[in-house]
Amino acid sequence: MKPELNPSSRDSGPSIFQDTIAEMTYPEVEAAIERGAVALWSMGVIEQHGPHLPTATDVYIPSARLRAVKRLLAAQGIESIIIPPFYWGVNFVSASFPASIKVRAEVMIELVVDVIKSLAGDGVRRVFCISGHNDRAHNEAIFQAMCKGSAESEAQACFICEEAIVRRLGIDPADPAVMPFSVPPEQPPGPFLDIHAGDWETSVMLAFNPDTVRQEKLHDLAPTNLGPDDLAEWRKGFEVSRRVTPNGYFGDPAAATAERGRTSIEREAEAIVQGLVRRLA
Ligand SMILES: [Zn+2]
Repeated sequence: MKPELNPSSRDSGPSIFQDTIAEMTYPEVEAAIERGAVALWSMGVIEQHGPHLPTATDVYIPSARLRAVKRLLAAQGIESIIIPPFYWGVNFVSASFPASIKVRAEVMIELVVDVIKSLAGDGVRRVFCISGHNDRAHNEAIFQAMCKGSAESEAQACFICEEAIVRRLGIDPADPAVMPFSVPPEQPPGPFLDIHAGDWETSVMLAFNPDTVRQEKLHDLAPTNLGPDDLAEWRKGFEVSRRVTPNGYFGDPAAATAERGRTSIEREAEAIVQGLVRRLA
């Protein structure tokens, strides 16, 4: 009898290195930069995502989004290179759970700035970053790194950020270090929210990295049926968040479908590319 594979050795779908410069040679990267390629970079985190999703969910999802962005940009005649994803981010809300790795914002900012400077030294002039993780402090760190990286190098770094998060962070939407985008919701919002490791994130993982989803667990996961007041409480972080969501998810993972995951990544990528085409014109 064949020994059963442990979960981490299964074929999990596209690697986070797929389509990034990690799979290119240096002359290929050099030539792309000489042709004026823009750099795309996702900023995730290793963080608990309930009993059914892997801790790198916030790395896999923006990686899938950037692969779609790269493809759509190429169709518009815009060349891009993808930088391997950043994954040591800031955890606050999930910080009391195991495997939510906590890195200080200042460490994250300095590391991101060094990478931007390194890319600028190679000749890259535009760096566009997206977030895979909605902790406020993580996204504040990204924005600060974009400002500092742009000030200290010849590259312009820009945070492609959902409008709602730009508002929440109090960033001026006209700041060159941010490019707000929004995707109209497919359905009118109901009374309950889907925030973390719920329907949306599980759908995207089913679409792009299905073997990393513990699908046998999904049926047992009841919807959390939590609303805006619970979200405000959950955002207080650490033990408070863990009390609000003891199983680590906020939403309805059992409702997930791969098809919705694919559609939502396509719609987001289209919205991002529309913004990028305007920004690069
Ligand atoms: Zn997530």
